[in-house]
Amino acid sequence: MNQPSEAGSTVSVSQMACNNISSAMTPPATGTRQRWNVTGMSKTASNNSSLMLRCAASAPKALRAVGKMRYFHAPDQPRESPMTDQYAVIGRPLGHSKSPMIHADFARETGQGLTYVAIEAPDGGFAATVERFRAEGGRGINVTLPFKLDAAAYATELSDRARLAGAVNCMKFDGARAVAENYDGLGLVNDIERNLGFPIAGRRVLLLGAGGAARGVLLPFLERGPEVLVIANRSVAKATALREQFAMRGNLVAGDYADVADQCFDIVVNATSMSLRGELPPVTARNFAAGCLAYDLVYGKGLTPFLRLARDAGAERVVDGIGMLVEQAAEAFEWWRGVRPQTQALIERLSVPLT
Ligand code: NDP
Repeated sequence: MNQPSEAGSTVSVSQMACNNISSAMTPPATGTRQRWNVTGMSKTASNNSSLMLRCAASAPKALRAVGKMRYFHAPDQPRESPMTDQYAVIGRPLGHSKSPMIHADFARETGQGLTYVAIEAPDGGFAATVERFRAEGGRGINVTLPFKLDAAAYATELSDRARLAGAVNCMKFDGARAVAENYDGLGLVNDIERNLGFPIAGRRVLLLGAGGAARGVLLPFLERGPEVLVIANRSVAKATALREQFAMRGNLVAGDYADVADQCFDIVVNATSMSLRGELPPVTARNFAAGCLAYDLVYGKGLTPFLRLARDAGAERVVDGIGMLVEQAAEAFEWWRGVRPQTQALIERLSVPLT
């Protein structure tokens, strides 16, 4: 999934260009996620819009228009050869999407021959865009805003995760079948448990927000067996509806922010969109237990007000959502290609300092 971004042209990122970007980045100076130092990174690499412009400038002859979809292929990649498996992210806007760069990195690292492009679809045009992509040989897609519900409606089969989340962020095409998944939540728990070494089992978890992202993370979180998972949301009815839907899956409590003001938690996840606007969700310093993990799903924003409050309240780890983004992409890549890419180095390269 991608974060909201400004509109931009729709291009794919060539592996060749991404190799250049990767080599322009400076390795982290220290060994913990929130302290990665990217000061040596070129402006291009720290701004995905610039990144795309750079890629486009490297091979303008390869740009061609297909209806509302615009493809860009680097000279070192076959142009929609039937021999080359094609993948895409479909959403709008996609000007700042990191998905083409992430999948190009995975393809290079695992030696997989594929192309991955970004396709902006018009309102009401998701199904037609996907049909055209499939007709041209498309094997799978990531789906981002605003089409996650359209993708669920388009699918011929939904996984448990996608069905319960009510949203799809990944599809695989096999003949007439369009199989749908939602890897957002798995990406988050993988990042928390594998990368950050923070087990969820037996922990007290507070989930802020009850929007699309929160829905997607509930099942994978509950499957890890937390002592309790509390959902707090401004619109309490949305939180209680989620509790009713997921109640059979674990110890789930729902309420208002005021209900949890005096409770403390081992893991606090900010799944509201407030950090995108530099706003602090209505949490209190008391919500953060000593040694807790504070995780903001937003990425690329540095130390958000939520993470700052958590750090000042004594949280052991404060982390943004770049690891979740890369891990959900890795799940999709493995599902499509049958090979698991490494994620740690890429997460480190894409992380910004939380200062
Ligand atoms: P939605 O719009 O579906 O949900 C937004 C949530 O934020 C709702 O719970 C909403 O509450 C709450 N909210 C918004 N404004 C306020 C406010 N002023 N006061 C209190 N609560 C507020 O967004 P998503 O769930 O799709 O995305 C949430 C965040 O997660 C975004 O920042 C997104 O970028 C990030 N994200 C990151 C991913 C990653 O891979 N790292 C993947 C997916 C998302 P209410 O219901 O009351 O309106």
